[in-house]
Amino acid sequence: MTKAEPRNIGIVLEKPKQNCNDMKCPFHGHLSMRGRQFTGTAISTKMRKTAVIEFERLHFIKKYERYEKRRTKLKVHNPECINAKDGDIVRIMECRPLSKTKNFVIIQKLGSEKGFKEKMELREAAKVLAKKEEETKPEKKGEQ
Ligand SMILES: [Zn+2]
Repeated sequence: MTKAEPRNIGIVLEKPKQNCNDMKCPFHGHLSMRGRQFTGTAISTKMRKTAVIEFERLHFIKKYERYEKRRTKLKVHNPECINAKDGDIVRIMECRPLSKTKNFVIIQKLGSEKGFKEKMELREAAKVLAKKEEETKPEKKGEQ
């Protein structure tokens, strides 16, 4: 008789509208949340029920008394009912280790990042460029 309501996971947020049978879902499974929370962008969602999330943090450099931006990448669980796609901004929260590399789970989709595709394309282009430079370096040494 009782309709399967999403579980209360202890923090106030919008619950997913969909239902799911994912055991590792914080709303419909038996996974409990604790620890740190981050907001990041999904940069890869090709793996089944797993997403790669990236966010920027500021790292202080004493010598220059300035901050630099550093990127953090995390593998997180992507529950069926949330099903985040590339470019989605998501809230993630720490949980028990779900696999060798996963101990965070997506708890909310906050929208999609503007210009995500362009950003990733730029990054790809930069990677190709860096690779080319690396390939040409030894040649230059050999010439001398
Ligand atoms: Zn679910």
